[in-house]
Amino acid sequence: MPPKSYVVALEEHYQDSELKQHREGGVAERLDDVGALRLKEMDEAGIDLQVLSHANPGLQGVDGATGVPLARRINDRLRAAIERHPGRFAAFAAVPTADPKAAADELERTVTRLGFKGAMINGLTQGVFHDDRRFWPLYERAAALDVPIYIHPALPQQAVIEAYYQGYVDTHPGLLRAGWGFNVETATQGIRLVLSGVFEAHPGLKIILGHMGEGLPFYLWRITHGLSRTMGEKTFREIFCRHFWITTSGFFSDPALVCCMMEMGIDRILFSVDYPFVDNPPAAEWIKTLPLSAEDREKLLNGNARRLLKL
Ligand code: ZN
Repeated sequence: MPPKSYVVALEEHYQDSELKQHREGGVAERLDDVGALRLKEMDEAGIDLQVLSHANPGLQGVDGATGVPLARRINDRLRAAIERHPGRFAAFAAVPTADPKAAADELERTVTRLGFKGAMINGLTQGVFHDDRRFWPLYERAAALDVPIYIHPALPQQAVIEAYYQGYVDTHPGLLRAGWGFNVETATQGIRLVLSGVFEAHPGLKIILGHMGEGLPFYLWRITHGLSRTMGEKTFREIFCRHFWITTSGFFSDPALVCCMMEMGIDRILFSVDYPFVDNPPAAEWIKTLPLSAEDREKLLNGNARRLLKL
């Protein structure tokens, strides 16, 4: 047997004791824990480092007046939690996007003072997609700091639920989430960001999408073709493959991985679990049989994360 690889997982969630009143329940015990239980389950699965982020909707679920001061408290508490277990955790900041300038300032504070690796934002902010120009101060700052923004799903808007999913919400609540709703909305965020021109304005901007890129790698040829007449100098594919990284969070499928590798290259794909919404063991089993060369396996499990997050 080859020596065990160092394994970084970077879409791993927790919840803050104060912010959790703004989110619906589920897997509470594991979300609350940034200590013994989490470390035990990491060790059992061979996961060396988790990059922690607040469970959705995070600060995207609160208004600016609440979110701005709350963000500092949340991120300071997360930093304190991480310090209790040196070498086992890193963090993506929670940022109060309802006040984009304050969100940019909080990103900078957490990166420069707390050692955070970027930020995660969830779903929409007060019903607005994050390509809107009001949010660009956050992207400008992220590019200046050379840290990525992780775009994560949250529950679809009520009007979308009614138009797209009614009739199945009660019998199949997962349809709004990993069963489809999450993917559609977050892929739409990615497409809208490309169309917005934000990457031309901020060429250093780096975006991470979870869940194997929320389906976008699979659709890359067709989206590029469908938008080819109206794109500017660069194609959709060129912009996407230059500015986006994707993770395996909650998506442990060889065919999906191979598709993403063929479209984007292994250098753009990073291992993640999506703990605790997804259990560690299936991910740990999957990585034992990855259809990858030894070198590519190391890139997926730690090398790409080391480079992107400067670990
Ligand atoms: Zn997640």
